[in-house]
Amino acid sequence: MVSRYGRRIRNLAEKADLQRRASYECPKCNKVKVRRKCYAIWKCRSCGSVFAGGAYSFTTPFGETAKRLLKESS
Ligand SMILES: [Zn+2]
Repeated sequence: MVSRYGRRIRNLAEKADLQRRASYECPKCNKVKVRRKCYAIWKCRSCGSVFAGGAYSFTTPFGETAKRLLKESS
């Protein structure tokens, strides 16, 4: 059934899966402890912050905004 969609889609799905399982850097405490909790919800296991993000990766408009804010405030 999966093969119906071809190799390209399967690669994309694998990539999305890797991104989904990966840990990401927390914008608050800067520790690589942010993990996907459920659909589009990411939680930092260090400081407990919860973020709304992308469904498959933590590269989100929110993250970019937070980075920009951090840069501007420092
Ligand atoms: Zn944190």
